This record gives sequence, C-alpha cells and structure tokens, in this order.
Amino acid sequence: MKRINVPQGVRDIIGRLEGAGFEGYAVGGCVRDSLLGKVPKDWDVCTSAMPREVIECFPDCRVHTVGIQHGTVLLIWDGRSYEITTYRTDGKYSDHRHPDGVTFVRSLREDLARRDFSINAMACDREGVLTDLFHGQEDLGAGIIRCVGAPEERFQEDSLRILRGLRFASRFGFQVALETEQAMRKQAPLLRHIAGERIFVELKELLAGQGAQKLLMEEREIFSVIMPELVPMFDHPQYNPHHCYDVWEHTCHAVGSVSGDSLLALTMLFHDSGKPRCFSRDSDGVGHFHGHPAESTRIARGILERFHCDHQTRDTVLTLIQWHDRMRVCTRKTVRRMLAALGERQGRLLFQVMEADMRAQNPGLLPQKLEELHRGERLLEQLLAEQACVSLRQLALNGKDLIAAGYPEGPALGQMLGALLEAVMEDEVANQREALLAYLEKIDTAK
Ligand code: ATP
Ligand code: MG
Repeated sequence: MKRINVPQGVRDIIGRLEGAGFEGYAVGGCVRDSLLGKVPKDWDVCTSAMPREVIECFPDCRVHTVGIQHGTVLLIWDGRSYEITTYRTDGKYSDHRHPDGVTFVRSLREDLARRDFSINAMACDREGVLTDLFHGQEDLGAGIIRCVGAPEERFQEDSLRILRGLRFASRFGFQVALETEQAMRKQAPLLRHIAGERIFVELKELLAGQGAQKLLMEEREIFSVIMPELVPMFDHPQYNPHHCYDVWEHTCHAVGSVSGDSLLALTMLFHDSGKPRCFSRDSDGVGHFHGHPAESTRIARGILERFHCDHQTRDTVLTLIQWHDRMRVCTRKTVRRMLAALGERQGRLLFQVMEADMRAQNPGLLPQKLEELHRGERLLEQLLAEQACVSLRQLALNGKDLIAAGYPEGPALGQMLGALLEAVMEDEVANQREALLAYLEKIDTAK
C-alpha cells in the first residue's frame, strides 16, 4: 500500500486532535494530488471532533469560524492556514446545490461517502496510511472520474458536481466513467439552478485543462445548458477553403491550442460564436461571415455578464474577440495602429489568439499564415523596443509646448496634437520637438 508524505504541520495538527481523544485525517484533494505525484495546493483535515472541540484543541492558535455551521474551522498553524472540518453527512438538497442542513457524525466512512468522486474521497492518517473505501486509487491509476454512490442522485443533490467532474477530467486528462457520464448528461438541465459565478469558476478551469478540447466536443449538450448561445455553432458548415472543420469543431481545436490559459481559452471559446448569424454564401458557393467579430463580441458579453466575470477579464476577452480577425496584413503601420488601440499586454495576447485561430484552420495554409503572423510579432517587438510613440502621452510635444511656441490656447490645441500623433503614427514625421513644430508650421501654412 502506498504511503502519503504528510507534511509536518499536518502531522502536528492531527497529533493534537488525537491527543485530545479524537480522530483526524488529511482528506480530499491533497491525498489525490500526492498520489498523482503533484504538490497539493493545500491540506484539508477532517476530524471526529465537533467544531467547538476543534477550537478547544488549539487554544494557542488563531482560528476563523466563518464556515463553522458547515463544520469548518480555519486554523492558522505555523503561519499557514488549514481547513479542519468535522465529519458530516449532508442533509436533503432542495435547491440542487446546498444541503438544507449538515449533520455532524463520528465516522470517517460516512464523511467519505458524501464526497463527490472516488479520487476525492480518500483520506490518510498522520503516518500517511490511506483509507480508500471507494476504489479511489484504482480510478486514479486508470484515469477515471467516478461518482461515489449513485451518480444520478449525487448530481440531483448538487448539480455543480457535473461541472466539477468535467473540470477534474479536463485538468488531469481523465475519462468520465460511463455511468457517471450518462448521469451527467441526464441531469445537466439542473445546472440552470446554479448561480452564474459558481459555474464560471468551474468553467474557467475546465477550459484551461488538457482535456478541454475533447470534453467540449463530447459533452457539448452539457455546455449547451449553461451557454445555449453556443448551440448554433454546432455542426455549422463553413464552405470556405481556409477551414477544414465546422464552426464548433474549429472552436474546440482553438481552445485546445491555448491549453493552460483560461483567459485565452475563454476568448477562443467565444471568438466565432457570432458566425452562424453572419453566414452567407457567394455565387461560387463559398461561405463568408462578414461582421462576425462584432456579433461574437455581443454574444460573449452577454454570457460573461451572466457569469459575473470580473471586468478586467471581460474587457480583455471582448477586445481580443473584436480584433481576432483584423490583422490580415501585418505592416509596421497596421501593427502600430493595433498597439495604439490595445496596448502592449493585449497586443501580445492578440498574436496568441491569432495563432490559436490559425492552428485550428486548414493545415495546408498554415505555414504561410504563420509567416505573416511572426512578421507581425517581430514588428510589435521592434515598436516596443524603440518605444515607438502610439499615444498623446508619448508625443514629444504637449499643449504647453505649443503655447510656448506662440499658438493660442483653446480647443484647437487638442486637434493639433491629435493631428501630430496621427502623422507620427503614419511615419510622416519623427517624434521630436523641433521636427513636430516644423511639421505643424508646414500644415498650417498649407491650409
Ligand atoms: P482543488 O485542487 O481544485 O482544490 P479539491 O479536491 O481540493 O480540488 P475542493 O473544492 O477544494 O476540491 O474540495 C475539497 C474536497 O471536498 C473535495 O476533494 C471533495 O472531497 C469535497 N467536495 C468539494 N465540493 C464537493 C461537492 N460539491 N460535493 C461533494 N464533495 C465535495
Ligand atoms: Mg482544495
């Protein structure tokens, strides 16, 4: 039997609980991750002690009791925080998400039985000896996500588990066990009861995981419950030589090629969502999607707002979608315009988006598209390295300089500065004080 390497802090905490006559085990994600050879994010402890009794075991430590009605005490031990949760079973679920009440129990077995998946339902004692009542180790070895207990009931109780299961499958590249998968599909409509922000937490991680592409393809009916706006993409043909997949397949491939980055994965998921509504075919039968970036942006905005996405993420995703198809030709001027509009961070991201998009298109045309893209990336780096002026802030001249040069105060100053920036962006004049003043005089007399 494998033994888990339990860190000293956790051993000490369990030692305290045991010293007071209670049981204590490390449980859940930390056991799973240790068995996978990964370093756990945090170590959770479960115990037979009631929450009050837990607090009494640690009179010398800081504790936080926000989760105490669910049995969780947050303990600060040696500068780190640990969740210590009393063994419990969950009562009836009437909203498909939260138990109406929890019941504290004294047996580890009952506590493990309420956990969602076999790989999450293992515990180990302070010596690292496993308690594995639901074949968690076996499923972990075989790469399988399987419910503890009857899958349909478990998803009925708490339908967010459907997305949790897919998230773990995506993160680890695991398969969902057949019966669990069937129950996920059957109970998916219950996801309508779940708050957008809870869905979004799971979705973001799911999309960034190594299994995202496959899951989006295979479980599209589940995703259609939480994002019905995406359904028109399913099986939508493109009739276009740039493409070798239908719109949804293309989307799934594009998400797959930004693995590990949830912001880019969200962008790729929505980037072509407006295509079906913008579809037309010309007299040669070739498909076109004129104006689709704007329509995709509109759809993405609606979904991200429903999910209560933070504003920075939302704005970045929407900007990238708007721009994903604009940089067909990369010249110093077009890249500079893009940099002026997007800034350095989003500008760099845009090239990643464009590359992911290309890699999910007709592979025959990829080398030439990549060449253009790499040229664009080099131009961007060049512009950044030379600190090329792309904003009024960077212009070598400001309003005060113009007044000093004898121009009258007033709104015309702003227009002049705008015209100068425009000329600098077009490489018509160098961004230097004297050159800019000379240029102004020239256009002034030309008037
Ligand atoms: P992560 O590494 O993503 O934190 P985790 O397994 O630690 O994964 P948490 O959400 O932190 O996941 O939950 C800790 C443990 O609590 C899980 O391993 C699981 O045993 C149990 N659990 C969490 N959420 C649920 C749920 N909705 N239904 C049943 N058990 C759950
Ligand atoms: Mg965790």
